[in-house]
Parts: sequence; C-alpha cells; structure tokens
Amino acid sequence: MEKILKSKFAVFALALVMTFSLFMLSACGHEHTYSDNWTVEKAATLFEDGVKARYCTDEECNEDDKGKQTQVITALGKTNELYDFFNFYNESLERTENGVKLGQISDPDGTRYGGAIGIAYGNDDNDGVYELENGVTTISFNLDLTSFEEDDYTLFTMNFLQKLDGDQNRAYVTECIFGVLKTSQGYTISALNGVNYTDADRAAILASENKVTIADDDNVLTLGYRLTYDSTKPDAEKLGVKLVVNGEEKITFTVYYNPENTANGITRVDGIGTLWNANSNKDSAILYNLIKE
Ligand SMILES: [Zn+2]
Repeated sequence: MEKILKSKFAVFALALVMTFSLFMLSACGHEHTYSDNWTVEKAATLFEDGVKARYCTDEECNEDDKGKQTQVITALGKTNELYDFFNFYNESLERTENGVKLGQISDPDGTRYGGAIGIAYGNDDNDGVYELENGVTTISFNLDLTSFEEDDYTLFTMNFLQKLDGDQNRAYVTECIFGVLKTSQGYTISALNGVNYTDADRAAILASENKVTIADDDNVLTLGYRLTYDSTKPDAEKLGVKLVVNGEEKITFTVYYNPENTANGITRVDGIGTLWNANSNKDSAILYNLIKE
C-alpha cells in the first residue's frame, strides 16, 4: 500500500517536472534579437510624449508580439527640439543643450524683439489656434537668467485668438504681457499693458501697479500662464489668466478686449496663438522645459 502511494507520487512529481521543463523551454528557448531600428508608433508633439517600438529581428520568432519593446519619446517641449517650434522671429535664436537661447532681433528703427513659439503649430492645429478646453490649463517654462545682471530685463506675452471661417481662419483677440527685471534683491515681475520694444520696457516693469518682487537664489525661474477657461460664460469672461512664478500664483492679469475688435465681431477667445519673448536687453536668457499641465 505504502509502496503504491510512493510510486504514484513519483509519477506525479515526474509529470510536474516535465510540465515545468516544457514551460521553461517555451519561455527561454528563444532569445529575441534586436537592432537599433525603432519605429515611431506615435510621434511626440510639443506637449505630449510619443511612443516608439522595435521587434525581434529573428525570422523564426514565433511569439505573437514578435518580442515587441516600447520606449517613450519625450515631449519635444522638454528637449532642445523646442527650437523648431519658434516659428516666428527665430533668426537670432540658438539651440542649446537643453533648450533655446533667446537672442533678439534689432530693427533699423531702434526697436528690438525676440522669438515666438507657435503653440498651435507645434500641436498640428492646422487652423493655427490651440483650442482651450474647459477647466484649468497651465503652460509653463523654465527661464535661466544666470547671465542677467542688475537692471537686465525680458518680456513675454501669450496671445489669444478667435477661430474664424474662411481663408483668414483666425483673428487676434487679446494678449497677456509680463516683464521680469533683475534687481539687487532678486526679481521684479510685472503685468504690462503693452510692449515698447525698447528700454522703455524696463521703466514700464517698475511703473506697473500689478507686480511682485521675489528672491530667487538659483536665477532659474519657472514661469507659467495659468488659463482658466469656461466656454459657457459670456465672451469677455470666458478666459481668466494668472501668472505662476516658481509654482505660486503671483499675478492676475486683466484680460483686455479691444473695442475696435469687438465692433468687428472679434469678441471671443477660442485658444492660444503664440508665446513670444517680446523684448529683452540681453541675448542670453535660456528658455527650456516648456510643458502643459
Ligand atoms: Zn524573437
């Protein structure tokens, strides 16, 4: 009796070992081989990561997914490919290791301006409007100002567009401008009502009544436009804009609607056009890590 039990157990144990061996053979019997030939499955955009894949190159590979491996393609705004999204006034810009050096263009009339990122164009919005969804969208970037000395300044503006039917498929509605001035204490950051494209912009930063002063030890600022959008509200109230500095909401912009535009039926913000480094007295600030949250 005891012997029979033992032999039954032996058969069972042998079967178990054989099953396990078969399993091991199918899992490990073929080792995938790969080349560096990755295929883009989903291209990265300015704000969204993409995906690339590669497969086992062995023709005998009998696995259903051919040993598929995937890798994330980093969103382009987080890399120095951001350079390619400066679609406007880009001739003085320089690609750096991690982003873009914000050169300026000087006009014969003495004015000066920097490059602009086509937010819409970078996201395949063929009509040139990066449409806002209801809710909160924050578009931010890092600005390396280690090269700035006291009294150096730079200006940024984000403009907002209305979609139109027909050939002229978008119209400028309004924009929100801010300036950053290096001081002996740190930085003064102000909301501005316009751009002079000259050193008058330095005085405008100081004269603004809507400003904050901050200390920033590493001289790299994180600056973000926080957009609150509600399409159900009246046109002039659809968009709210705040400036986020180093993670904190610091400035609430007044969003101006030009009466002339309003008279011509341009009353409504549908989305973003560009983010523009409108002026700086320096050619050396570095913008990097443009992200949307
Ligand atoms: Zn394989």
